[in-house]
Amino acid sequence: MSEKPAGLDAEPVISVRDLETHFFTDEGIVRAVDGVNFDVHPGTTMGIVGESGCGKSITAKSILQIVEAPGRIVNGEINYRRGSGETVNLLNYESGSGNMRAIRGGDISMIFQEPMTSFSGLHTFGNQIDEALRLHTNLAKQERFDLAVDWLARVGIPNPVQRMHEYPFRFSGGQLQRAMIAMAMCTNPRVLIADEPTTALDVTTQAQILDLLQRMQEENDMAILFITHDLGVISEIADEVTVMYLGKVVESGPVFSFFDEPKHPYSRALQTSIPSMFTSSRERLPSISGSIPHPQNRPSGCAFHPRCQSFMEGTCDVGEPELVSVNEEQEVSCFLYEER
Ligand code: SF4
Repeated sequence: MSEKPAGLDAEPVISVRDLETHFFTDEGIVRAVDGVNFDVHPGTTMGIVGESGCGKSITAKSILQIVEAPGRIVNGEINYRRGSGETVNLLNYESGSGNMRAIRGGDISMIFQEPMTSFSGLHTFGNQIDEALRLHTNLAKQERFDLAVDWLARVGIPNPVQRMHEYPFRFSGGQLQRAMIAMAMCTNPRVLIADEPTTALDVTTQAQILDLLQRMQEENDMAILFITHDLGVISEIADEVTVMYLGKVVESGPVFSFFDEPKHPYSRALQTSIPSMFTSSRERLPSISGSIPHPQNRPSGCAFHPRCQSFMEGTCDVGEPELVSVNEEQEVSCFLYEER
């Protein structure tokens, strides 16, 4: 965890306000993202954490308007501040519009957890990175090729010229993830959304990828939205943390406050369930009791109440806590911190 970066005092490059993304299924409406707010600042990393199914990835996909049917963004704003200083609400653009296509993969890039599903198996890697460069730059063919080779080399892929002519199945898992980072970075994005980019990798490759992202962030003053359930990774890379539970933000603040003084019982439970240097090899780690409920069976009151160690009967199962400031830096939604 590093010192507070200067970018946190700058205007946010992405500002998500009251975002709601719902899925309209035969069984009913699933509120996958339910009124989410956060900012991402230039040159800094916002980590979004929570268990699987808490709405992290749908939030990321909503920013780029790539939520699959039957999902739909039903409310909110995604304010993007361009390099010129002009701010636009991306939700004013149609998903398939020229404006949105120019931003998606250009100003804002995304790397996914499973790179194999993001590359076409029918085209060489060179064809695919060339398409991204053709869409988002004015470079001539040879310049695009040279730039792509340069990026492959920068992300540490050996024999980059030869790899340009190869199909994705010839790459190892770690090389594919690096290739995807090269493809996301070659257009010089101002924002990178990284959705569990290291989950499928061994720890050595994971450390190399995190180093690579941090180096590129420093070079380009790029903002990163880093989505993961891995708090070890968050401690390495994030400057700020947003904790999500069942589609809502339950805590947000600087990464050091999150680790030193987690406020929400869910944040505390997430942290006690990871091993520390002092955990002995035979010690059983505490786990969060129960599992995340299906969004259609949302518990009454505070959605975390059936699993919460600090549950207060007659309060937590009745009303829904608001996200409130508990100090200058942290916001929490929990009745432990609300004056009633
Ligand atoms: Fe736990 Fe109540 Fe706080 Fe919810 S509002 S996290 S149930 S103490």
